[in-house]
Amino acid sequence: MAPVRLCAVSKAFEQNVVLHDIDLTVEDREFMVLVGPSGCGKSTLLRLIAGLETVTEGSIYLGDTQINHLPPKARDIAMVFQSYALYPHMSVYENIAFGLRRQQSQRSGIFSSMGHKQRQAIALRVQQVAESLQIDKLLDRKPKELSGGQKQRVALGRAIARNPQAFLMDEPLSNLDAQLRSETRAQIVQLQQQLQTTTIYVTHDQTEAMTMGSRITVLNGGKIQQVDTPLNLYRKPANLFVAGFMGSPP
Ligand code: ADP
Ligand code: MG
Repeated sequence: MAPVRLCAVSKAFEQNVVLHDIDLTVEDREFMVLVGPSGCGKSTLLRLIAGLETVTEGSIYLGDTQINHLPPKARDIAMVFQSYALYPHMSVYENIAFGLRRQQSQRSGIFSSMGHKQRQAIALRVQQVAESLQIDKLLDRKPKELSGGQKQRVALGRAIARNPQAFLMDEPLSNLDAQLRSETRAQIVQLQQQLQTTTIYVTHDQTEAMTMGSRITVLNGGKIQQVDTPLNLYRKPANLFVAGFMGSPP
């Protein structure tokens, strides 16, 4: 695990500046929620960290390593979106194990001749992740035999199982109904507490923001408005926008 640090990061598409001079540190093992209205730049910020977009100015660090010039695959970061694709022909177990196998084969250079110990380590990890997401009873099923909520939990499990240094989620629950959203929210928080992966969770939903993170970053118009604990944001909003957005009492 490692802290994620953005230093004076700006992003423009053509002439349109969508992120202005962003300084942000997400501490090692922290669960940071990034919240703000639609179009304020949340997805772009995550995509810059993951390497799916390039910064216009500034630098991004993962631990001590500057990563903003590295291709996505060279960054030890996992990202989950609102829509996701599981491998339809693979079981839940195989879907979650897939990333782990690839990682081990990259490390050792052997894929076909994986040893007993390696296979056992993978099985243990899959079990651990599946238990915290409460999909451990579904490991033999194929994706088409799962509900939407279950599929999304498998996608989350698959992304985090390989133990990335940072875990980015972009509105991963927005396709689920309210009841399922609140259940899955709790499972994500529990999973993060167990695995301690540095996490950035993007949402446009204030309630979600208030109940999930240890700290919240409020973004509006491509600028950071405030970074603080849920309680402080509510009690001591830095400006009128934050007060209105977080529903603080006048
Ligand atoms: P959010 O995730 O907060 O809804 P986005 O990061 O998706 O916001 O978008 C922020 C702004 O950047 C929007 O005005 C959007 O139109 C613009 N934008 C995002 N991606 C691109 C792109 N690839 N090309 C041009 N403009 C983009
Ligand atoms: Mg978005």
